Amino acid sequence: MMQSKLPNIGTSIFTVMSQLAVKHNAINLGQGFPDFPMSETLINCVANAMHAGGNQYAHTNGVPILRERLSEKINNLYQTDINPESEITITPGGTYAIFTAFSTIIHPGDEVIIFEPAYDSYIPNITFNGGVVVPIALEFPNYTIPWDKVNAAITKKTKAILVNTPHNPTGVVMTKEDLIKLQDIVLTHHLYLISDEVYEHLIFDNKQHETAIKYPDLFARSFVCFSFGKTYHCTGWKLGYCVAPAALMKEYRKVHQFNAFSCDTPKQLGIAEYMNKKESYLTLGTLFQEKRDYLRSLLAHTKLKYIPSSGSYFESYSYQAVSEESDKVFAERLVKDFGIAVIPMSAFYQNATDHKVIRLCFAKKTETLEAAANCLIKV
Ligand code: PMP
Ligand code: GLN
Repeated sequence: MMQSKLPNIGTSIFTVMSQLAVKHNAINLGQGFPDFPMSETLINCVANAMHAGGNQYAHTNGVPILRERLSEKINNLYQTDINPESEITITPGGTYAIFTAFSTIIHPGDEVIIFEPAYDSYIPNITFNGGVVVPIALEFPNYTIPWDKVNAAITKKTKAILVNTPHNPTGVVMTKEDLIKLQDIVLTHHLYLISDEVYEHLIFDNKQHETAIKYPDLFARSFVCFSFGKTYHCTGWKLGYCVAPAALMKEYRKVHQFNAFSCDTPKQLGIAEYMNKKESYLTLGTLFQEKRDYLRSLLAHTKLKYIPSSGSYFESYSYQAVSEESDKVFAERLVKDFGIAVIPMSAFYQNATDHKVIRLCFAKKTETLEAAANCLIKV
């Protein structure tokens, strides 16, 4: 028998629920992806790049024009100078960007603090790299960060802390105060920060995205990870990037160079061309806030109770008034008996904490949200 490097890891909950959705012909509000079309113009930009011959290996760090565009964008949005040559690397997706950051910094036995509920790739990523996961539960039901517990969890072995804002699965958005506390802890204990900001533009209720890039002392110790899939409604493209100061990026690129080496050339060229259409990302907050609110209004007629989300594709709902079943059993019953796939929140905790909450993805067409509500009204 092969000795597994990840003996305790099963199949991702997103795969499990999407497969169940197909099997039961259910509406899928589980896995996070838009079911509406992406921009035809962006598709044409990529097609044009292919026809123009942009089909060979890209520069290992990413097509230069795309990195320049990203540097300009970061400067516009966050008033920070990022060197496109030394501080940005294009990656095959946000997940890979995060994995590479862990691979760059973790030595066997290093402890990494994460917050739960946590996006499902972090724990296997840390474990695979020989790190030790130190999970801290966000405070239920508002999912705020308990900073006193973070301070108490720091040991001599703590190497890094991972944050995710806007947060998947809860939709919670970190505040300026959170970033200041985070910076203080990172600097005091000489930690690294991995900041998962893939939902940077999906932010609601007039909140501002607090990126680690905006805090110079914090950024000096950070790997900040993004995904074009979320920004341009093309999760299947699996293209993202990491922004880090040059000294950290130098090590990061050693890992990247002999893993992916480089990413899809025509998509990089196409996105670089399309990026001048700033409204495509500046309007995302409004677009997704409307969807969040529409789903809320539809589900106001059910016993499900939303736990407010201020960002991302997701809002979580308590089903405490409906059933005492575990969230996994409830989610299975929803897909089999009611034709709707959701994600049970316990999947995002190592110890399967069950607060009777499910995560719904509202990045869907109006018809899909209405059809989903018709299923949930019967529960
Ligand atoms: N982090 C979070 C919190 C996500 O929700 C996602 C989307 N699946 C990713 C990272 C990864 O993005 P990508 O699909 O570009 O790998
Ligand atoms: N980010 C998506 C979610 O949270 C799914 C990504 C995946 O399937 N790996 O639902």
